[in-house]
Amino acid sequence: MNWLERMKSGLTTRVKREVPDGIWSKCPGCGHANYEAALERQRWICPECGHHYALRSDQYVRLLADPGSFVELDARLTSTDPLRFRDTKRYADRLKAARRDSGLHEAVLTGVATMGGHPVALGVMDTRFIMGTLGAATGEKLARLIDRAMVDRRAVIIVCQSGGARMMEGTLSLMQMAKVSAKLGQLAQAGLLYISLLTDPTYGGVTASFGMLGDVIIAEPGARVGFAGQSVIKQFLGTESLPEGFQVAETVLQHGFIDRIVRRDQLPAELARLIAMLSPPGAVA
Ligand SMILES: [Zn+2]
Repeated sequence: MNWLERMKSGLTTRVKREVPDGIWSKCPGCGHANYEAALERQRWICPECGHHYALRSDQYVRLLADPGSFVELDARLTSTDPLRFRDTKRYADRLKAARRDSGLHEAVLTGVATMGGHPVALGVMDTRFIMGTLGAATGEKLARLIDRAMVDRRAVIIVCQSGGARMMEGTLSLMQMAKVSAKLGQLAQAGLLYISLLTDPTYGGVTASFGMLGDVIIAEPGARVGFAGQSVIKQFLGTESLPEGFQVAETVLQHGFIDRIVRRDQLPAELARLIAMLSPPGAVA
């Protein structure tokens, strides 16, 4: 349509005011427009409603580890496609796309660091990589992290954020639940501390293994924590609605599955305090 026709048809051209990307962020909790630079200072907690924005694994590392202390381990370890699995897409293509889009090689970032001066082995899952699912390499990275913690006498902190087991790897994925759990058993026998931090969302095989095995299990406010997802449960029960607060950290706490809920801005101090209190002599700096 040319300008003359446009005028004739009564349309007006609006001057579109572009908001540069990455400056403002609409809160998924209350819809408030938050200034991103301010959100960063507030640890990505909405000042209006307290909603905890989803964080990437590198952001959790910045939040939790002492500045400059994090050294990544097994950075290049990644899943292969041993079953040559295909659903609506080839799993090999999903892996490629996940690596390209997230810049990660796996659904967990692992490394050693200090927190409040205490040596820790830190694993942080990341939902940008195939929904943070637990694949063979994810489990292997966590198992190696726990091995390293036993050698160095470090506390282990795992930040969970996952849709559960990675179905495209079948049993190879499911056995990671047992493998990581067995490693955590060894860590406990060595008298070392393990804290699991459940963030939104923590589901399936992660909840059913290392998510729930922490000596202390902490959740972020409002995090969804469960086994089967809400849509699966609705389907199974043949219902449209579930009770208020279903699978939300605050309800899960009331039912005794987690130990405490800690706001993200209080996490570094809280974790450092727990490590200092609960680690055996010789494992605290
Ligand atoms: Zn909000």
